Amino acid sequence: MTTTGPEASEGAGVAAPGGAAAPRWSRAVLKLSGEALASASSDETIDAATVRRIAHEIAQCRFELGVELAVMIGGGNIWRGTTGAGGGIDRATSDTMGMLGTVINALALQDAIEREGQPTRVLSAIAMQEVCEPYIRRRAIRHLEKGRVVIFAAGMGNPYFTTDTPAALRAAEIEAEVILKGTHSGVDGVYSADPRRSPDATRFDDISFDEVLARGLRVMDLTAITFCKDNALPILVFDLMAPGNIRSALGGEPIGTLIR
Ligand code: UDP
Repeated sequence: MTTTGPEASEGAGVAAPGGAAAPRWSRAVLKLSGEALASASSDETIDAATVRRIAHEIAQCRFELGVELAVMIGGGNIWRGTTGAGGGIDRATSDTMGMLGTVINALALQDAIEREGQPTRVLSAIAMQEVCEPYIRRRAIRHLEKGRVVIFAAGMGNPYFTTDTPAALRAAEIEAEVILKGTHSGVDGVYSADPRRSPDATRFDDISFDEVLARGLRVMDLTAITFCKDNALPILVFDLMAPGNIRSALGGEPIGTLIR
């Protein structure tokens, strides 16, 4: 475990032919919370300018770094299963409503990324053939190899989960090297305590899965953290809302916290 210091993280991007930075990882899964598509400054469920900004960065990572990128999109800006269950809706039904919300977000993101000139495919864990492709592991890998950005919709298709665990599951299935967990709350990594409440909290540059679990740090669902630990799948937690950070993360710049 190391805490924030001036030194660069291990594995920082090396120069590639032509002067462009080589990516730190060649295949990655980006976990985007649905709320990251909303905006504090507008009442819109999906804020067009915010989606455009994220889409531009994703396309940039493809064009400039050549990273094979898959996105697991959440749906919390539209519906969360636990909210409905708390209000008396059957939990499995409420979770299914949440999964359908992720499909709406996936289509918004697809549209925005393709406007940047970057081909994408939405692969849903709940079949809806008129709207998008079904999730088929080998097809997802093929799309990535062909340079398409893959957007995973409907989580893993089962209730009682959030999109954190499917992000980890899909990352393992497609043999991604890392999960990028973008935060949208202004917290730029994993801290020893909540930095919004404890001014003395320090940010970790890297931290082990065991320490995250022992300290009860809620960076992702515990199921997802345990899954990543068992499958040696590192997670980079970083501030998604700072412009340029997706590219910085994939380019190996020392941002956020690496859990491994
Ligand atoms: N969900 C589910 N199974 C999954 C993924 C998602 O039931 O595999 C439901 C769950 O109700 C969740 C909602 O979809 O609350 C939206 O996903 P999430 O909460 O992960 O959205 P985020 O917080 O990332 O925006």
